[in-house]
Amino acid sequence: MTILDRSLPQLGDWKTEEDLLILQNAQLGTMLGWAEASPFYRRRFADRPPTDRSGLLAQPFTTKQDLRDQYPFGLLAVDRRELATYHESSGTAGRPTASYYTDADWVDLAERYARKWIGISAEDTFLVRTPYALMITGHLAHAAARLHGATVVPGDNRSLAMPYSRVIRVLHDLGVTLTWSMPTETLLWAAAARAAGHRPGTDFPALRALFVGGEPLSAARRARISELWGVPVIEEYGSTETGSLAGECPNGRMHLWADRAVFEVYDPTTGEVGTSGRGQLVVTPLYRRAMPLLRYNLEDEVEVSDAPCECGWVLPTVRVLGRSAFGYPVGDARVTQQRVEELVYGLPIEYEVLFWRARAETDRLRVEIEAPDEHRSAARSALTAAAEAEYGVPVEVTAVPLGTLVPQHVLTGVHDVVKPRGLFGADEDWDKALLYY
Ligand code: AMP
Ligand code: MG
Ligand code: ZN
Repeated sequence: MTILDRSLPQLGDWKTEEDLLILQNAQLGTMLGWAEASPFYRRRFADRPPTDRSGLLAQPFTTKQDLRDQYPFGLLAVDRRELATYHESSGTAGRPTASYYTDADWVDLAERYARKWIGISAEDTFLVRTPYALMITGHLAHAAARLHGATVVPGDNRSLAMPYSRVIRVLHDLGVTLTWSMPTETLLWAAAARAAGHRPGTDFPALRALFVGGEPLSAARRARISELWGVPVIEEYGSTETGSLAGECPNGRMHLWADRAVFEVYDPTTGEVGTSGRGQLVVTPLYRRAMPLLRYNLEDEVEVSDAPCECGWVLPTVRVLGRSAFGYPVGDARVTQQRVEELVYGLPIEYEVLFWRARAETDRLRVEIEAPDEHRSAARSALTAAAEAEYGVPVEVTAVPLGTLVPQHVLTGVHDVVKPRGLFGADEDWDKALLYY
């Protein structure tokens, strides 16, 4: 059962870019009217509120600092009674920012997330493995899976009640078909599965796809994850302040949900703003009542393209380079997380390298990879050669034993999470009183 809100645009409702613009323009006036109810924008508009696209484009950007300054409810455009949820971002780029949504906002949010080409249905058992505390991500996937009738297994990745051993147990025993997590999680599961005596590629036959997002993912890492688990990896891009901004099509490209938001690309070095090219992504959500945002600069480095995609979606595509796109210098080279990741996951799968870390020092790049004893020397030589060829600077690769970067107890441990207790027997440990986790 799929309940879509027909008052919101749905994929396939438009055939051309012109139609998409008409669709956006038809909603812009309404949305700008909503923004007038927000104390922040009312002040900003003074007595000249924008009413159309050109009015919108004449507005200054809304920055993360604006959001911080308006904490907690300076952007609230509805009565507090209409709020359904309150969230805060992870704060990767500084102090966390607040965002809030009405029930109607939640329909838009859930629908955008649910646009997964592989589909979500009542047949699915959907493991949500992102935070539920404050952030939107867990609730977003939860709501989208519920919207499509799936059985949700809420497995918050930051809860002590859900250590990796338990994730592997539910993945295996419940026949989980779909998961939502950061890409890194799926590598941790692969290690935890092995630690529990399972083979990721064969012992989880119900699994259909891994939905991932929240951090940059190189093509090589994605391919490795997909090969390890034997299922497609389907990427998603979004934030707590906005919900899903883009999702993947069957051709493996991420498309911006431009029927639900207006997107711009800002180049901070030239000050130019356009609809494509490389720069920071600026977003104006079109269906947001509780907290309208006009030209919100996400400060994510992206590359947007208007080139048509064979999927036929008629939506711009985006590559997310993320906030760490610029990397660190080593000698004359510039080393990025993305490129090191590609080199590491470009190693043959037989070497079983799942985890790495690297440090850009002034005169050399230091890399550590975890590998089983029998592959350590081959993995080390192969990566040293690849990285030296790539950067032309000294590279020191150390292949460390399994359990060095990700301790074994993290993968296999169980936490003692119980209900609080005050009364203990004579032979029990009463230091466990009150602190029940
Ligand atoms: P948060 O607002 O705490 O939910 O985190 C959102 C941020 O995570 C975004 O602004 C991006 O910087 C990052 N992010 C989310 N999805 C992706 C993705 N698919 N690729 C790269 N970065 C992402
Ligand atoms: Mg954020
Ligand atoms: Zn496409």
